Amino acid sequence: MQVDIAVIGGGFSAVATVINVLDRLGQDKSIALVSRSSGLGRGVAYSTTEAKHRLNVPAGRMSLLADKADHLCQWLAEEATEFGPEDFIPGSYMVAICRKRWRTDCCAPTTAPKYGSSTPT
Ligand SMILES: Cc1cc2nc3c(=O)[nH]c(=O)nc-3n(C[C@H](O)[C@H](O)[C@H](O)COP(=O)(O)OP(=O)(O)OC[C@H]3O[C@@H](n4cnc5c(N)ncnc54)[C@H](O)[C@@H]3O)c2cc1C
Repeated sequence: MQVDIAVIGGGFSAVATVINVLDRLGQDKSIALVSRSSGLGRGVAYSTTEAKHRLNVPAGRMSLLADKADHLCQWLAEEATEFGPEDFIPGSYMVAICRKRWRTDCCAPTTAPKYGSSTPT
């Protein structure tokens, strides 16, 4: 398979990179995520399922989308979580937000051939 951009690794940074680059790619360009693990977005830090394992930055200062600073806080509100902008959220939330966006942006039937990606498990 030949692609214009290949992102290596299936951790948070790789998935976030693909999600952010997709918006900026021309229709004739393709991007592939190359991962050796099936747990997309998890990586070392966010694979925890223990809710006591919190991020070290408040939610209001983090975002998945480079051009939308309040994206994480919006997601927290949409999901009806107990957390607000000042809170340190569980690391596993980063995987959840990443995967939700991945499903809507990267796995839609119309985009599947273009991105040649897999479904995160
Ligand atoms: C315990 C812990 C807590 C942390 N807490 C925070 C925090 O609160 N806030 C914060 O901002 N940061 C935190 N970090 C740092 C965190 O690791 C990074 O913010 C972020 O998760 C790094 O994501 P990444 O995708 O770069 O790396 P990783 O999540 O480590 O993912 C790397 C991926 O690359 C893959 N890979 C590696 N080599 C290859 C290869 N040769 N070919 C193919 N794939 C490969 C791996 O399998 C993995 O899937 C923490 C780190 C740890 C260890």
